[in-house]
Amino acid sequence: MMTFTQTERTTLKRLPKRGHFDRETVYGILDEAFICHVGFAPEGRPVVIPTGYARVDDKLYIHGSQASRMLRTLAGGVDVCVTVTIVDGLVLARSAFHHSMTYRSVVIFGRATPVEDREEKLAALLALSEHIIRGRWAEVREPAEQELRATTVLSLPLVEASAKIRTGPPLDDEEDYALPVWAGVIPLKLEAGEPIKDPRLPQGIQVPEYARNYKR
Ligand SMILES: Cc1cc2nc3c(=O)[nH]c(=O)nc-3n(C[C@H](O)[C@H](O)[C@H](O)COP(=O)(O)OP(=O)(O)OC[C@H]3O[C@@H](n4cnc5c(N)ncnc54)[C@H](O)[C@@H]3O)c2cc1C
Repeated sequence: MMTFTQTERTTLKRLPKRGHFDRETVYGILDEAFICHVGFAPEGRPVVIPTGYARVDDKLYIHGSQASRMLRTLAGGVDVCVTVTIVDGLVLARSAFHHSMTYRSVVIFGRATPVEDREEKLAALLALSEHIIRGRWAEVREPAEQELRATTVLSLPLVEASAKIRTGPPLDDEEDYALPVWAGVIPLKLEAGEPIKDPRLPQGIQVPEYARNYKR
Protein backbone atom coordinates (compact mmCIF):
# COMPACT_ATOMS: atom_id res chain seq x y z
CA MET A 1 0.00 0.00 0.00
CA MET A 2 1.62 3.25 -1.15
CA THR A 3 -0.79 5.60 0.61
CA PHE A 4 -2.08 5.73 4.16
CA THR A 5 -5.82 5.38 4.33
CA GLN A 6 -7.23 8.51 5.93
CA THR A 7 -9.15 7.85 9.09
CA GLU A 8 -11.35 10.03 11.22
CA ARG A 9 -8.29 10.71 13.41
CA THR A 10 -5.84 11.51 10.60
CA THR A 11 -8.12 13.72 8.50
CA LEU A 12 -6.80 17.28 8.65
CA LYS A 13 -9.51 19.76 9.48
CA ARG A 14 -7.29 22.87 9.47
CA LEU A 15 -5.64 23.60 6.09
CA PRO A 16 -6.18 20.12 4.67
CA LYS A 17 -4.26 21.15 1.51
CA ARG A 18 -1.11 20.80 3.59
CA GLY A 19 -1.87 17.18 4.37
CA HIS A 20 -0.01 14.29 2.74
CA PHE A 21 -0.80 10.61 3.00
CA ASP A 22 1.66 9.04 0.57
CA ARG A 23 4.26 6.86 2.22
CA GLU A 24 7.10 8.49 0.32
CA THR A 25 6.39 11.86 1.94
CA VAL A 26 5.66 10.47 5.41
CA TYR A 27 8.74 8.23 5.38
CA GLY A 28 10.92 11.03 3.99
CA ILE A 29 10.13 13.09 7.10
CA LEU A 30 10.55 10.11 9.46
CA ASP A 31 13.91 9.28 7.89
CA GLU A 32 15.24 12.82 8.16
CA ALA A 33 14.33 13.49 11.78
CA PHE A 34 15.40 11.27 14.66
CA ILE A 35 13.47 12.51 17.68
CA CYS A 36 9.80 11.82 18.17
CA HIS A 37 7.35 12.73 20.92
CA VAL A 38 5.38 9.82 22.29
CA GLY A 39 1.99 10.64 23.77
CA PHE A 40 0.01 8.21 25.89
CA ALA A 41 -2.36 8.42 28.83
CA PRO A 42 -1.56 6.02 31.69
CA GLU A 43 -4.60 5.87 33.92
CA GLY A 44 -6.21 8.61 31.87
CA ARG A 45 -3.48 11.15 32.64
CA PRO A 46 -1.76 12.28 29.41
CA VAL A 47 2.04 12.40 29.16
CA VAL A 48 4.26 13.16 26.18
CA ILE A 49 7.86 11.92 26.23
CA PRO A 50 10.63 12.77 23.75
CA THR A 51 12.69 9.86 22.48
CA GLY A 52 14.82 8.60 19.59
CA TYR A 53 13.44 6.29 16.92
CA ALA A 54 14.16 4.56 13.63
CA ARG A 55 11.93 3.40 10.81
CA VAL A 56 12.37 0.02 9.16
CA ASP A 57 9.91 -0.67 6.34
CA ASP A 58 6.44 -0.10 7.77
CA LYS A 59 7.50 -0.10 11.42
CA LEU A 60 8.77 2.53 13.82
CA TYR A 61 11.11 1.29 16.55
CA ILE A 62 11.73 2.95 19.88
CA HIS A 63 13.93 1.59 22.64
CA GLY A 64 15.16 2.19 26.14
CA SER A 65 15.55 0.80 29.61
CA GLN A 66 13.33 -2.04 30.71
CA ALA A 67 12.56 0.17 33.72
CA SER A 68 11.15 3.00 31.58
CA ARG A 69 7.59 3.89 32.47
CA MET A 70 6.99 4.90 28.87
CA LEU A 71 8.16 1.58 27.46
CA ARG A 72 6.46 -0.53 30.12
CA THR A 73 3.16 1.30 29.58
CA LEU A 74 3.31 1.07 25.80
CA ALA A 75 4.27 -2.60 25.93
CA GLY A 76 0.91 -3.17 27.62
CA GLY A 77 -0.77 -2.39 24.29
CA VAL A 78 -2.20 1.05 24.97
CA ASP A 79 -3.14 3.66 22.38
CA VAL A 80 -0.22 5.88 21.51
CA CYS A 81 0.23 8.99 19.40
CA VAL A 82 3.73 9.71 18.08
CA THR A 83 4.70 13.01 16.48
CA VAL A 84 7.82 14.01 14.54
CA THR A 85 8.60 17.62 13.64
CA ILE A 86 11.20 19.25 11.40
CA VAL A 87 11.30 23.06 11.52
CA ASP A 88 12.62 24.47 8.24
CA GLY A 89 12.17 28.16 8.92
CA LEU A 90 10.45 31.06 10.56
CA VAL A 91 7.87 32.85 8.45
CA LEU A 92 7.78 36.58 9.18
CA ALA A 93 4.56 38.18 8.04
CA ARG A 94 3.54 41.84 8.03
CA SER A 95 1.02 41.26 10.79
CA ALA A 96 1.63 39.50 14.08
CA PHE A 97 -1.31 37.25 13.31
CA HIS A 98 0.08 35.73 10.10
CA HIS A 99 3.53 34.75 11.40
CA SER A 100 4.16 31.07 10.91
CA MET A 101 6.86 28.44 10.42
CA THR A 102 7.86 26.32 7.50
CA TYR A 103 7.73 22.78 8.75
CA ARG A 104 7.28 19.13 7.94
CA SER A 105 5.60 16.97 10.53
CA VAL A 106 4.07 13.55 10.97
CA VAL A 107 1.46 12.26 13.39
CA ILE A 108 1.10 8.49 13.89
CA PHE A 109 -1.57 6.62 15.85
CA GLY A 110 -1.42 3.01 16.88
CA ARG A 111 -0.38 0.45 19.44
CA ALA A 112 3.19 -0.72 19.92
CA THR A 113 4.29 -4.26 20.72
CA PRO A 114 7.50 -5.49 22.35
CA VAL A 115 10.07 -7.02 20.02
CA GLU A 116 10.82 -10.42 21.56
CA ASP A 117 12.68 -12.06 18.69
CA ARG A 118 16.42 -11.68 19.33
CA GLU A 119 17.34 -11.14 15.68
CA GLU A 120 14.66 -8.50 15.15
CA LYS A 121 15.67 -6.81 18.39
CA LEU A 122 19.30 -6.60 17.29
CA ALA A 123 18.28 -5.43 13.83
CA ALA A 124 16.10 -2.71 15.41
CA LEU A 125 18.95 -1.55 17.66
CA LEU A 126 21.27 -1.44 14.67
CA ALA A 127 18.65 0.55 12.75
CA LEU A 128 18.29 2.99 15.66
CA SER A 129 22.04 3.48 15.81
CA GLU A 130 22.50 3.80 12.05
CA HIS A 131 19.52 6.14 11.71
CA ILE A 132 21.04 8.55 14.20
CA ILE A 133 24.72 8.15 13.27
CA ARG A 134 25.52 6.04 10.25
CA GLY A 135 28.71 4.01 10.54
CA ARG A 136 28.89 3.96 14.34
CA TRP A 137 27.51 0.46 14.97
CA ALA A 138 30.30 -1.25 13.05
CA GLU A 139 32.96 0.32 15.30
CA VAL A 140 31.50 -0.10 18.78
CA ARG A 141 31.14 -3.12 21.05
CA GLU A 142 27.89 -4.95 20.35
CA PRO A 143 25.33 -5.28 23.16
CA ALA A 144 26.08 -8.09 25.61
CA GLU A 145 23.26 -10.57 26.38
CA GLN A 146 22.55 -8.91 29.71
CA GLU A 147 22.46 -5.47 28.02
CA LEU A 148 20.04 -6.82 25.43
CA ARG A 149 17.82 -8.19 28.18
CA ALA A 150 17.89 -4.84 29.97
CA THR A 151 16.78 -3.04 26.81
CA THR A 152 13.18 -2.93 25.67
CA VAL A 153 12.51 -2.44 21.97
CA LEU A 154 8.99 -1.64 20.82
CA SER A 155 7.63 -1.79 17.31
CA LEU A 156 4.83 0.51 16.19
CA PRO A 157 3.18 -0.49 12.89
CA LEU A 158 2.91 2.42 10.47
CA VAL A 159 -0.73 2.03 9.52
CA GLU A 160 -2.48 5.23 10.57
CA ALA A 161 -0.39 8.31 9.82
CA SER A 162 -0.51 11.73 8.23
CA ALA A 163 2.06 14.32 7.22
CA LYS A 164 1.53 18.07 7.20
CA ILE A 165 3.89 20.38 5.34
CA ARG A 166 4.02 24.15 5.21
CA THR A 167 6.30 25.83 2.68
CA GLY A 168 6.57 29.22 1.02
CA PRO A 169 6.35 32.91 1.92
CA PRO A 170 4.03 34.51 4.45
CA LEU A 171 0.38 34.74 3.57
CA ASP A 172 -0.64 38.24 4.57
CA ASP A 173 -3.95 40.00 4.31
CA GLU A 174 -4.05 41.81 0.95
CA GLU A 175 -4.16 45.30 2.50
CA ASP A 176 -1.06 44.54 4.65
CA TYR A 177 1.26 43.93 1.65
CA ALA A 178 1.77 47.73 1.39
CA LEU A 179 3.04 48.02 4.99
CA PRO A 180 6.71 49.11 5.31
CA VAL A 181 7.62 45.99 7.30
CA TRP A 182 10.18 43.38 6.24
CA ALA A 183 8.55 40.05 5.50
CA GLY A 184 9.95 36.73 4.39
CA VAL A 185 11.42 33.50 5.71
CA ILE A 186 14.42 32.85 7.96
CA PRO A 187 15.57 29.33 6.99
CA LEU A 188 16.62 27.14 9.90
CA LYS A 189 18.61 23.93 9.84
CA LEU A 190 20.25 21.48 12.21
CA GLU A 191 24.02 21.78 11.98
CA ALA A 192 26.73 19.69 13.64
CA GLY A 193 29.51 21.49 15.48
CA GLU A 194 33.13 20.48 15.95
CA PRO A 195 33.29 17.10 17.78
CA ILE A 196 34.49 17.41 21.41
CA LYS A 197 36.62 14.49 22.50
CA ASP A 198 35.99 12.54 25.66
CA PRO A 199 38.59 13.62 28.24
CA ARG A 200 39.32 9.89 28.84
CA LEU A 201 40.02 9.14 25.16
CA PRO A 202 43.45 7.51 24.81
CA GLN A 203 45.96 9.36 22.63
CA GLY A 204 46.04 8.61 18.95
CA ILE A 205 42.41 7.79 18.27
CA GLN A 206 41.30 9.95 15.38
CA VAL A 207 37.84 11.48 15.05
CA PRO A 208 35.96 9.21 12.65
CA GLU A 209 34.74 10.66 9.40
CA TYR A 210 31.06 10.20 10.37
CA ALA A 211 31.64 12.41 13.43
CA ARG A 212 33.87 14.96 11.69
CA ASN A 213 31.37 15.50 8.89
CA TYR A 214 28.09 14.68 10.60
CA LYS A 215 25.16 15.75 8.47
CA ARG A 216 21.50 14.93 8.25
C1 LIG B 1 16.45 14.05 22.58
C2 LIG B 1 16.06 12.93 23.51
C3 LIG B 1 16.25 11.62 23.13
C4 LIG B 1 15.90 10.57 23.98
N1 LIG B 1 16.04 9.28 23.54
C5 LIG B 1 15.62 8.26 24.34
C6 LIG B 1 15.65 6.91 23.89
O1 LIG B 1 16.01 6.60 22.72
N2 LIG B 1 15.22 5.94 24.72
C7 LIG B 1 14.77 6.26 25.99
O2 LIG B 1 14.38 5.33 26.73
N3 LIG B 1 14.73 7.51 26.44
C8 LIG B 1 15.14 8.53 25.66
N4 LIG B 1 15.09 9.82 26.12
C9 LIG B 1 14.68 10.03 27.50
C10 LIG B 1 13.14 10.02 27.59
O3 LIG B 1 12.65 11.31 27.29
C11 LIG B 1 12.63 9.63 28.98
O4 LIG B 1 13.21 10.47 29.96
C12 LIG B 1 12.95 8.19 29.34
O5 LIG B 1 12.55 7.31 28.30
C13 LIG B 1 12.25 7.76 30.61
O6 LIG B 1 10.86 7.69 30.35
P1 LIG B 1 9.88 7.35 31.55
O7 LIG B 1 8.49 7.40 31.00
O8 LIG B 1 10.34 6.12 32.25
O9 LIG B 1 10.13 8.63 32.46
P2 LIG B 1 9.79 8.83 33.99
O10 LIG B 1 11.07 9.11 34.68
O11 LIG B 1 8.89 7.76 34.52
O12 LIG B 1 8.95 10.16 33.88
C14 LIG B 1 8.43 10.78 35.04
C15 LIG B 1 8.36 12.27 34.81
O13 LIG B 1 9.69 12.75 34.63
C16 LIG B 1 9.69 13.84 33.71
N5 LIG B 1 10.47 13.48 32.52
C17 LIG B 1 10.74 12.27 32.00
N6 LIG B 1 11.48 12.38 30.85
C18 LIG B 1 11.65 13.69 30.67
C19 LIG B 1 12.31 14.44 29.68
N7 LIG B 1 12.95 13.86 28.61
N8 LIG B 1 12.32 15.79 29.79
C20 LIG B 1 11.70 16.39 30.83
N9 LIG B 1 11.07 15.73 31.79
C21 LIG B 1 11.03 14.40 31.72
C22 LIG B 1 8.24 14.07 33.33
O14 LIG B 1 7.67 15.02 34.19
C23 LIG B 1 7.61 12.71 33.55
O15 LIG B 1 6.22 12.74 33.72
C24 LIG B 1 15.40 10.86 25.26
C25 LIG B 1 15.21 12.20 25.63
C26 LIG B 1 15.50 13.22 24.77
C27 LIG B 1 15.20 14.65 25.18
